[in-house]
Parts: sequence; C-alpha cells; structure tokens
Amino acid sequence: MWTVCAWCGLRWGELMGLQHHHVAATRLTIDVQLGPPDGRPFELEPPKEGSYRNDHPHYFGAVDLPPFLAALLTRQMADRHPASCDCGDDGCGGGRFLFLNKRGGHHLHGTYATHPWEKAVTGWVPARRPRRGRSSGAPARPVMVDMAEGWPGVPVTPTWPAASGTTWAPPVVRGLPRYDQPVVDARAVDCPRCRAAAGKACTSPSGDKHTHQPRIAAARAAGHIRELGLTSWLPINPRMTPPQVTALAPGVAGRDRHPHDPHP
Ligand SMILES: [Zn+2]
Ligand SMILES: [Zn+2]
Repeated sequence: MWTVCAWCGLRWGELMGLQHHHVAATRLTIDVQLGPPDGRPFELEPPKEGSYRNDHPHYFGAVDLPPFLAALLTRQMADRHPASCDCGDDGCGGGRFLFLNKRGGHHLHGTYATHPWEKAVTGWVPARRPRRGRSSGAPARPVMVDMAEGWPGVPVTPTWPAASGTTWAPPVVRGLPRYDQPVVDARAVDCPRCRAAAGKACTSPSGDKHTHQPRIAAARAAGHIRELGLTSWLPINPRMTPPQVTALAPGVAGRDRHPHDPHP
C-alpha cells in the first residue's frame, strides 16, 4: 500500500479509493477518492482539486507503473476479496478495493498511525491513558501473536506485559488469558445452543458475544484443542511514520522509553 502511495504520489483518500478496475497492466488510473477520511458512510468522490490521472485530454494521463509495482499490484489483487464493509449501497458501493483492513473494512485515517502502523514498526502496543471512570490505562506492551495461521501471526489481546528481571513465568492475573495453556477451538464445531455454524461466532438475543459452554464442551470432546504458537514482533523501524498520517498517538513520542530487549 505504501509503496504504491510513494511511487504514484497519491493522497490518503486516493489510496483508499483504489479498486481493481483502476489497474490495467502497467497503468494506474486515479479518478476517485474515498472520503471523508473517517466518515460514515464512506463515499467515493472526485479526487481533490481535480487531480484526475486518467486518459482524458484535460489531464496528465494514467500513472505508468514500473514492472515491479505492476507485479506487486497483480499479486495484491489475486489475494484480496471485495470489501465487506458496512457502508451500504449509498456508501462506497462495496467494490473490489485494493487496500482494506483485515476484516474487509476501510482503514481509519484517525487511528491508522496507532493501529496497525505503530504496532508493526515498534513491535509494541502503545500505552493507553487512563480514562476517568472507564479504565485505569495500561503501560506499553510488546505485540504478542499466535502463529497458528502463519506469518505475521494474529495479535492476541489483551497481551502480556513485557518480561522484566532475570526470571519469568507466564502471568497469572485476573482478566489476562492463560495463553500458555492449551485452548479449545470452539468455532471448529457447530453450536448446539444457538445453532451458529462452524467458523461463525455464537449469537444471542441479548447481543453478547460469549461462546456458549455446550459448544466449548463439544469442541473439547471432539479434540479441537491446541497450543498457541506464541511469539512477539520485533521492531521494523521505530522511527518510521506513515506519510500523510501524522496524528501520532501520545504514546509514540515515548517510544524510546521502552527498550526493545525485554520481549517475553
Ligand atoms: Zn465501504
Ligand atoms: Zn452458541
């Protein structure tokens, strides 16, 4: 995503608005942007200041892609599915966007610098400030992932605190899952209680998201138990910031405060 942004000189909204039909072999057409940046619903709009890059005689023409970038875009398109955002028909149109988040929605400009960027470049989950009456905040913690489905792993939350001292044992604290213990993969089976099919989350009339106990028992009985493949991310480059996304969270300024050696 950022390689395309840098090579093609795109604005955030233009990058977010890119869809499969904008790529034709070695040419990239820019005729929309997805805006507003954090709006609901997201909508496709003309690019800012009429900066179309297409073959209309009034404009400069589509962007020529160097071969390596055309190849990267081709690979990206083969990997990605249509948006599964909830913008609806009046919104983005649910097209085949090139750059969506993991859940198939649009990246949020306002939080992108923290998640996923800061976690990836520093290897740390930023500290959370206390919020009166709601949470007591939390110190920065290493990003910890489960590698069961391969690189780069699926972050577990809440994650464990950084190790300190010369001895270490998995933390046993209320509210912190025992990631060192085998887990039951309840979604491997249908739920006998709410009829959720395998792979789908349990549903309940009250809207809560808990997995029903009978389903956990059924999965355990069927042997769907596994160890997590735990590891933590190392920093890519803690000083790297995303272009155009400068609203860095307060925690970022303090990124030198946590040395990178005490990963568990
Ligand atoms: Zn959308
Ligand atoms: Zn259920």
